[in-house]
Amino acid sequence: MNNAIAERYAAVQERIAQAAQGAGRQPEEITLVAVTKSWPVAILLAAYEAGMRHFGENRAEELALKRPAVEAALGADSGIVWHKIGDLQSRKTTAVADYADFFHALDRVKIAHKLSSRLEDNGRQLPILLQVNVSGEGTKSGFACAQWETDGRQRENLLAAVREIGQLPHLTIRGLMTMAPWTATPAEITAVFQQTRQLADWLAANAPQTDWTALSMGMTDDFELAIAAGATHVRVGRALFGERN
Ligand SMILES: *Cc1c(COP(=O)(O)O)cnc(C)c1O
Repeated sequence: MNNAIAERYAAVQERIAQAAQGAGRQPEEITLVAVTKSWPVAILLAAYEAGMRHFGENRAEELALKRPAVEAALGADSGIVWHKIGDLQSRKTTAVADYADFFHALDRVKIAHKLSSRLEDNGRQLPILLQVNVSGEGTKSGFACAQWETDGRQRENLLAAVREIGQLPHLTIRGLMTMAPWTATPAEITAVFQQTRQLADWLAANAPQTDWTALSMGMTDDFELAIAAGATHVRVGRALFGERN
């Protein structure tokens, strides 16, 4: 298993390097978040052994169980950065405020307030990405941005959220996160990633006091397309660890 993980890691790194090169970018601009959801702690330790340092969990409970277990084995100064990657329900904010180092999917101002007050209690600071729904798929979370170019209300709602979240002392906006549509052609997926990138550029011009440099997009099936469109964080599970049960 450990050899398999090391080999898969090398293969994914090579694919990232190729995609970066094809886009005229440096591979170092791209952070590989190894999505360890559903895998036991032993697999996380094997991933660490192989050299991975950014771990992504999408269930708050799993993050709250695995981080302490990994730190018991490796120490708190292992250098691992813990990413909370998926939707967050408002009753589960405590675990994220306590255990995440980076949160990719902030999609409601209410959640931002809950996170910030818990972070205040324990004196932590949390970098976050705003999740945007650019594809318009009804099942996707995120601030509604499918018509952001033509619909001034969508832009105004987003800017209002940015202003409110920006005032919270324990959260720091770093950029945007998006999910590609589930069933889409590569061209459609690319269009969503490019739209997200353009929205980040628009925000950089219209909310310049905020940092818009990070773009979390791309998973096992589409991370090369995301890198071509400007992703700085790719969230990859199956290509590293195989199919989840
Ligand atoms: C599971 C998950 C991923 C990784 O998906 P793979 O297809 O296994 O690479 C990325 N992002 C989010 C939000 C996820 O829930």
